[in-house]
Amino acid sequence: MRRLEALHQLVDLTENRPVVVTCAATSRELASIADRDNHLYLLDSMGLAGSVTTGLAMAVEDSPIEKVIGVEGDGSLLMNPNVLPTGGYTSPRALMLVLLDNRVYGSTAGLPTYADRIDLGAITEAAGWTVCRADDPETLREEFTRLVRTPGPTLLHVRIEPGNAPNTPKLLADPVTLTNRFQTWLAPKLLP
Ligand SMILES: [Mg+2]
Repeated sequence: MRRLEALHQLVDLTENRPVVVTCAATSRELASIADRDNHLYLLDSMGLAGSVTTGLAMAVEDSPIEKVIGVEGDGSLLMNPNVLPTGGYTSPRALMLVLLDNRVYGSTAGLPTYADRIDLGAITEAAGWTVCRADDPETLREEFTRLVRTPGPTLLHVRIEPGNAPNTPKLLADPVTLTNRFQTWLAPKLLP
């Protein structure tokens, strides 16, 4: 499964959910499929998708929002793996990460990450999260649906092929504008 195929599934599954997206190719490819107000693209903020998702999950604890969905990459998660014990220890009910794991740094010439030999799903499980795995679009949908209804920190570990979609336009929007757009979308969703 290519990243773009996985993102197509996620677009279908997250129309009314807050989605925090890691930087570079993942943000660009998601925006090329659907650029929605519920997407918070973390442009140039590698390693922070998990942290922002955790903070938002804590903030929506008493709201009707089922899950805040963070879309993370293996290289980015490895830049800030502290989010795993933080999530397991604090255990926000609304925390969910989708890890698109291609075992390479997709935006820097495909150099291998540690995920080449280390199972990030197993590390996440050891940190107290509920983990499911998917290698194809159908399993991705099934396991997403299961995890989105599972309280506490959850991770969907999605194995994808290395490589980026060709000719994807750069995402040049102002991060302040993107954040305002996301906040405006989110605010009414917080009301009971
Ligand atoms: Mg990667």
